[in-house]
Order: sequence, then C-alpha cells, then structure tokens
Amino acid sequence: MLRKFHPFCHATSIYDIDINFFKKLNIKYLFTDLDNTLDSYRCYDPSQRAKDLVKALKDIGVTTIIISNNTGQRVKAYSERLGVEWTHSMGKPFSRKLKAFIKERNINPDEVIMVGDQMITDIRCANGAKLKSILTDKIVKEDQWTTHINRFFERPYRKHCMKKHKFKEWGEIYGQS
Ligand SMILES: [Mg+2]
Repeated sequence: MLRKFHPFCHATSIYDIDINFFKKLNIKYLFTDLDNTLDSYRCYDPSQRAKDLVKALKDIGVTTIIISNNTGQRVKAYSERLGVEWTHSMGKPFSRKLKAFIKERNINPDEVIMVGDQMITDIRCANGAKLKSILTDKIVKEDQWTTHINRFFERPYRKHCMKKHKFKEWGEIYGQS
C-alpha cells in the first residue's frame, strides 16, 4: 500500500537534474509543485535558477506547468512572472483534478513527469494519475503550516526509505538508460 507514495526516482533538488535526463525519458511536460520544490512558499518572485530551468526545458521541447495545491492568487503571481502555465487548488494527493487536466489538454501521460517535495501530496497524486514522478528534498527549511501536518506523517517513513535506499536516484536511471 505504501508503494503509492513511492516516486519513480529521487533528486536532492529539481535544480540538480541534468536537463538531458528529461530528453532521454522522452518527456514533453514537466508538472512541478511550487512551494518548496521550485521556491519558498513566501517567494512571489521566481529565482533566477527557476527562470533558467524553465528556459532550458523549453529549449529541449519540455513545457513546464505548475501543479499546486496553493491558492490561485499565490500561484498566479509566481507563475506569471516565471512565464509558465499554472493550476491551483489541485487537491493533491487526490488525482481527480489532475486527471481531468491531462484529459482536457489531450496530454499523453507517458510524456509527463511530475516533481514535488512531498510523498503524501505530490507523489501520491502523480501515482494516482499514472505519471512518473520525482521526489525532491525541500529547498528551504520553512513550510506553510498546512504542510507541517503532512511532514509529521511523512517524515519517519521517508527517512526509512532514504536510509534503505528504497528510491532510485535520478542519476542511476540516467546512467542506465
Ligand atoms: Mg511543496
């Protein structure tokens, strides 16, 4: 049952991943969480590295779309400055809204990879929608209060999985493929 929370692979940060990894996997869409995956939840201005990543992905034909549980106002402000499409209030871990979005946009799920910093929300949702996923570590220490609850439940199992090497690192898959 807990496998529903297991990612396709792990990366310390979205910014650590070699852009060619997405190419090798034939990815056309990067669905990414916003808070603590791309930037801090307090951040309304995308960092330079977020902008660089989006551009590098675009250059190899990968479209970035923000898939967030946060409110429209917060996600809109950030995404518009980053110049990417966005969704908000997605109800992760549930995948109903995400599946509807994929269908509506006529996206091939095999060409999507979803990135996020939480197993309970991001990874569970990706698995529910049958998408490949990458679990990242949080990029800043601070979390929104709602996230504290998820972290509390997630932490022991996540720690166990990391210690026992239950998740492949992106580099292992990259090296093998
Ligand atoms: Mg997050």
